[in-house]
Amino acid sequence: MRPLVLHLDIDAFFASVEQLRNPRLAGRPVAVGSGVIASCSYEAREHGLQAGMPLGKALRQCPPLVIVRGHESIYRCYAARLFEICHNWSPVVEEHLDEAYCDLAGTERIYPDPRQEVARLRDEIHSSTGLTVTAGLGRNRMFARLIGKLHKPDGLGYIEPEQEESLLLQLPIESIPGVGPRTATVLSNLGIEKVEQLRELSRSALSGLLGRNGEILYERCRGEDHRLIGGREIPRSIQRGTSFDEDISCPRTLDAMIEYLAERIASNLRQRGLEAGGLALQLVHGDHRRDRRRVALAPPTALDPPIIKTALELRRAMEGRRTAIRFVGIHLDRIRLAATVEQGDLFTATTEDPADTDLQQQQRWKRLLGQVDRIRMRHGHGALLRGSALALQDGRDRGGTALERDRHGLILRTSCLTR
Ligand SMILES: [Mg+2]
Repeated sequence: MRPLVLHLDIDAFFASVEQLRNPRLAGRPVAVGSGVIASCSYEAREHGLQAGMPLGKALRQCPPLVIVRGHESIYRCYAARLFEICHNWSPVVEEHLDEAYCDLAGTERIYPDPRQEVARLRDEIHSSTGLTVTAGLGRNRMFARLIGKLHKPDGLGYIEPEQEESLLLQLPIESIPGVGPRTATVLSNLGIEKVEQLRELSRSALSGLLGRNGEILYERCRGEDHRLIGGREIPRSIQRGTSFDEDISCPRTLDAMIEYLAERIASNLRQRGLEAGGLALQLVHGDHRRDRRRVALAPPTALDPPIIKTALELRRAMEGRRTAIRFVGIHLDRIRLAATVEQGDLFTATTEDPADTDLQQQQRWKRLLGQVDRIRMRHGHGALLRGSALALQDGRDRGGTALERDRHGLILRTSCLTR
């Protein structure tokens, strides 16, 4: 069986989506983010701008820059459409925020010429979403990604096994997956900058230096990457939070925001078929003091009511300081795939056991939220909001600042762009 992996990377993802949504931004330097650049268009990159750069500095360096606040849910819709196309085309797809890996091992009969097929796939993605992607084809994940990087943007790279060696040897060590900033510092302190130099270290030297990661690097710098293409990515944690234009001192406004964030994070869990086993609430006070409390969610859940209830209980338990609140965030952890098989309701119809009615109630919520999610998938999260969120939108009788709302929900001060 021919081992073959395809790596797809959406070019300047967030910025490209903004340019598609607003044609006046096409061809102009665009940055998405608040505080720092989360994504910027290739026109902005020509001015030396890149992700992670503070927006103030970016504006000084590139005065015509257009800065757009992020619209996370819209980006997810675009990515979902792209992943759907990949699933139609490849038996195994691993999805990331703006990247996908497809395992093409065993497809030599249906795709005798993979390069031609990938060109067709890229055309389909472009005509269906308007986005351009860069594709890399290689023997394993590492080579697929490395060769794609050399063909950005809007390119297609393919690496033959006999070209691997010459590509790998001249690369800086940071290009190797598994070499993060910390590992890079350890190695560069030893004068190791290139893969070629890394090769000179023995397996035992590398494992003595970096432990298990060192052994992996020993293989990677020789072109071996045994990571499989997985089904779905399960994040360790998911967070939603926002700061306020003015510090909040009204507990009802704070509770309304907590409800809104809890509802958003729960619907995100459900869309991805996940559930969470732990919840933490984080508050930052006006005097910069941080408070954080965490409890287990038992049983793990993706439903609004238990998540909202737990978050509000934590908020009440954290009461006691008289300072206003500057930031509130909800953090879910112990994430796992949601159980797909449900306990049957063999006895619930006849008994009056409170535990059974709990289960029934939960199933009613599940059905209701399933419908809510479907409406939101089609019309945006803002199409259906809780009453408390509408009060946030008003702002008037609550002593808070009124928040704007579009079809994607309330426009928060801190938009969440990452997982
Ligand atoms: Mg990208």
